[in-house]
Formats: sequence, C-alpha cells, structure tokens
Amino acid sequence: MEQITERLLNWASILEPATREQAERTASMPFIHPHVALMPDAHLGLGATVGSVIPTDGAIIPAAVGVDIGCGMMAVRTQFTGDDVRGRNLATLHGQIARAIPLSAGRYNRKLRDTAAVRAEELRAMPGADQADGAASNWPLQLGSLGSGNHFIEVSLDEADRVWLFLHSGSRGVGNRLAQRHIRVARDRCAGTDLPDRDLAYLEEGEPEFAAYIEALHWAQRFAALNREEMMDRVAEQVSRFLTEEVRREQVVQCHHNYTERETHAGREVWLSRKGAISARRGQWGLIPGSMGAASYVVVGRGNPESLTSAPHGAGRAFSRTAARKQFSRADLDRRMAGIAWGRSDAFLDEHPDAYKAIDVVMADAAALVEIRHTLRQVVNVKG
Ligand code: 5GP
Ligand code: MN
Ligand code: MN
Repeated sequence: MEQITERLLNWASILEPATREQAERTASMPFIHPHVALMPDAHLGLGATVGSVIPTDGAIIPAAVGVDIGCGMMAVRTQFTGDDVRGRNLATLHGQIARAIPLSAGRYNRKLRDTAAVRAEELRAMPGADQADGAASNWPLQLGSLGSGNHFIEVSLDEADRVWLFLHSGSRGVGNRLAQRHIRVARDRCAGTDLPDRDLAYLEEGEPEFAAYIEALHWAQRFAALNREEMMDRVAEQVSRFLTEEVRREQVVQCHHNYTERETHAGREVWLSRKGAISARRGQWGLIPGSMGAASYVVVGRGNPESLTSAPHGAGRAFSRTAARKQFSRADLDRRMAGIAWGRSDAFLDEHPDAYKAIDVVMADAAALVEIRHTLRQVVNVKG
C-alpha cells in the first residue's frame, strides 16, 4: 500500500498519472471519510476512477457509482468436470447460450418468461419502481439480457478440473437511464459552485433529490442482481441440455462491483461507493475476472481495514478501446483464443487480453486484500 495523500491510499503498482490525478480530485472533496482507496486495477473512468472506493459522509456523488448501477459478477460451481466437456463441440454450447440470452446493447427479450415475471414482481413491489417505469417502461423485458462490451458469459474449468458457469452484467438500459437522470440532477444542483471536476457534483443528505437517488440506486442494484440470476438460470438450462444432465449448483457467488451501501469505516457510518471494486470483508466470497483469454479468480476477503474492506474487480483496462483496436490484430486475437469457443469476430479486438493489465500483477498487488480460492480458465466465452 502506498499513501499518496492523507486522503488517498493506493494498491496499484501500475497507475497512470492521469488516473492518480482523477482520484486525487475525488479525495479532495470535504465529505470524504476517512479516505479514498485505489484498487490494483485502477484506471481512468468516466465520472470517477474505475477501481476506486469512495466513502462519503452526509453527501453522495452519483457519478461515483456511474451509469451501470449494480454491475457485477455471478458464478456457479457445478458437479461437472473437464471430462464431461473435453472432446465435445463447445461451439454448439456457445451457440445455444448466445441464442438463449439477448446479447449486445439495446437487445432485450421479446416476451416475459415465467422466471423473469416472478423477478419483475419483486422489483415492482420495491420503492423506486415508479422511477423505473418512467425511465424505461420495458424494464421487465430487460431482465435476463447481457449487454455489450466486456459483459460476458463463460464456462470455465478450475484448478481441480471442475466446471463453473461465470457471468458479468449490470442493470442494463433501465439502470443507465436512472443513473443518467440523477447525475444530471446533481450537476444542475452544483452548477455555479466551484468543483475540482464537474463529475464530482453531489447531493446532500436531507435533500429530496438525495432520497430519490438512493431509492433509484437500491432498485437498480436489485435489478442487476436479478438480471444475473435470470441469465444464470438460462445458462444452466442450456448446459443441462448440452450435457444431458441437470446442473447442480454446488456453490453460488454473487457480487456487485459498481454500487453503494451503508458501511462503517474508521468509526463512522458512511455511504460507501465502490466503482469497479468488490467488497472483501473477512471470509466474504468474491469474483475477480481477468479477460476473455486469461484466468479469473474466486477469492475470499481478508477484511483489510485500510482498503475499506475492498478488492479489485478485474484486471482493469491498460488500453482504451480505440487504442486497442489500433494495437491488436485479428490474427493475434485468434491465436490468444486458441482452444476457447468464442464469438470469432473483429468486434472483440478491443477486448484483446492485452488490452487489460496483467491479471497476475493485479492479483499480486491484491495479496493483502484477498486470498485466492479458485483459478478459472474459460473454455467458452460469449460476449455481446
Ligand atoms: P468492468 O466491470 O470494468 O466493465 O470490467 C470488469 C473486468 O472484467 C475487466 O477489468 C476485465 O478484467 C474483465 N473482463 C473483461 N472481459 C472479460 C471476459 O470476456 N472474460 C473474463 N473472464 N473477464 C473479462
Ligand atoms: Mn457493466
Ligand atoms: Mn462491470
């Protein structure tokens, strides 16, 4: 751990100056308590640094969580082993999964499945449902959809040759609309005030705008978790069909990595926002993905108090999407993905494993934050 200022502690050994400066601006806000923590995967983000943990007292910065409220990971350890999948045509399973779940931005379900209807019912009964209706009235059809970019579904093998189902997504269009709306409210509220960065616009506890944002935030966080559960049901269904045996869920891990919750740190209850970071309380399970062609990790938190009991949420980008598209060739990506059933498209050039920081460096930086329990290598990778 490196102390950058009294209000900014850093665990990243790979850290660009612009990222450090962005985090310094966040850390300078008067309502930060006790400090901002930068995770090993930290990189420049829209609004706030990806890989940062931002505790605020009496105020909240909507851009600190960002537009994919509740984005996170879900993993299931199954009864299957490598022997069940080796020698099978995994491109068939890739196709089955890709057809069972709407992929890409703006792609949603055409009709409401029974399981999604039950989940929508729960969301409809929550405070915030009226805001969601106003933001995107088709939100029930968004349940069980992946999204684009680095949202993914994988079938992986761990170090003991066990099959895992692993996926990454958030609160889709509805969460995005809700977030944009409240970020705009905060900006309008802070217009004319002197902020180190306009993305640091905040809402103060006690104001109606604050309460409305918290309500939308909690709703979208629950939507994101249910979206992952709905997708996992469909992935399990396809894997059961492919292997002609019902998937048993021997272990389930779910974690948000873009979210806010009330937590106590350094003696005070604060609004703890993790933007590209996971909770790593002592004994708590978490998920740290690498990239479409690198290892991912199932971890257990060590409860490190200085990190605000947090850990990285992935490898973190080393190249912007534009830079990555210039840097990497399709032939090179094909080589890196040998042995994995994947989408085989130029669209994923900016998702090249080397567009991300080296996951082993990130995991070494995170050694004081989490303990590695399982190392996953993907055999199927589905992206939007
Ligand atoms: P983010 O939540 O910031 O969008 O991305 C989370 C992390 O997921 C990235 O930092 C990267 O390390 C990881 N990642 C991106 N694409 C893939 C993928 O296809 N498979 C796996 N296992 N990890 C990925
Ligand atoms: Mn996301
Ligand atoms: Mn994410």
